[in-house]
Amino acid sequence: MTFASPSQNAVPSPASLSSSFAIDVSDVAKTYRGKIQALRGISMRVGRGEVFGLLGPNGAGKSTLVKIIMSVIRPTRATGTVLGQAIGKKSTLTRVGYLPEHHRFPKYLTGLQVLDLFGGLGGVDRAIRRKRAPELLDLVGMRDWGDRKIGTYSKGMMQRVGIAQALIGDPDLLLLDEPTDGVDPVGRREIRDIVLQLKSQGKTVFLNSHLLSELELVCDRVAIMVNGTVARQGTLDELALGRGHYEIVTDPSSQQFDMPASLAAMVSRTNSAAGDLIKVATLDVNEVQPVIDLLRKNGMTIRKLNLIRPTLEDMFIEAVREQYGEENGQPGRAVGAKR
Ligand code: ADP
Repeated sequence: MTFASPSQNAVPSPASLSSSFAIDVSDVAKTYRGKIQALRGISMRVGRGEVFGLLGPNGAGKSTLVKIIMSVIRPTRATGTVLGQAIGKKSTLTRVGYLPEHHRFPKYLTGLQVLDLFGGLGGVDRAIRRKRAPELLDLVGMRDWGDRKIGTYSKGMMQRVGIAQALIGDPDLLLLDEPTDGVDPVGRREIRDIVLQLKSQGKTVFLNSHLLSELELVCDRVAIMVNGTVARQGTLDELALGRGHYEIVTDPSSQQFDMPASLAAMVSRTNSAAGDLIKVATLDVNEVQPVIDLLRKNGMTIRKLNLIRPTLEDMFIEAVREQYGEENGQPGRAVGAKR
């Protein structure tokens, strides 16, 4: 096994030294027991202060990657940095907050005691954690529950306290594994707001969730992992590039006209009694203007202009299908993304 310890990683690339990335890793590989290739040399960059979503079907390697970032397991191979330090360096962890999936806190402790305990384990000074714990409970909407025992909390409250626990060391980077798991829609919205608030404070949030519509609302960038590789990575706009279109709905018209060669390749028209539908294969509204001009010149009345872009779920399914073929890319398997 080769492991990029700080000394082996003594000559990081200039990009990995840049302070603009909270996570900047490349060629991360993990083979379990010499035969199970969980990660096949992936690269990932998470900018400082951004909300980054990691998604992928079961077994894609997401947990393995998070554990490597958290220095819980050793990669077979890896280079790069986490918060500017070589990947695998334990001292980085004092600046990282972590909410594991399916976390459990001792039921006999109160919310405040949990924060105090985890703060203490993370080396946070007693006076600081005494001051910070109630502030964090306030942040996650649990101010009145600090003296109540964990055993009396709902699942949503457990998640909130879990997020507060991840924040007790005032980390720069937060890794949240399924933060809205088991939380009702109101609670999910509140957790989303907390994530955005943390972002506004300059924290980097690395989210792992199977609720794709939620990731879509909150993430600056996402990575879609499939079978130990990164199938897609970028902003939602970058991922949608070349995959969306505009549609123009007009009044029904039998008007015939020639489409200039410059537009013909990107425009299609369907007549119907309800109105004509003109599809323009672009996400750039400027490229739609000449089509609108042409329709208007030919006396057609425009009723609607809609941007039709693929959802994150569409892109996820597409990435999985590319890797596994049609059958296993069905939503039933793919979008139930996590265990
Ligand atoms: P995900 O979090 O995306 O579901 P994991 O990182 O848990 O994926 O798993 C990736 C692959 O590695 C899977 O094939 C899984 O069975 C395997 N794996 C994970 N942990 C271990 C382990 N401790 N020992 C052997 N194989 C493992």
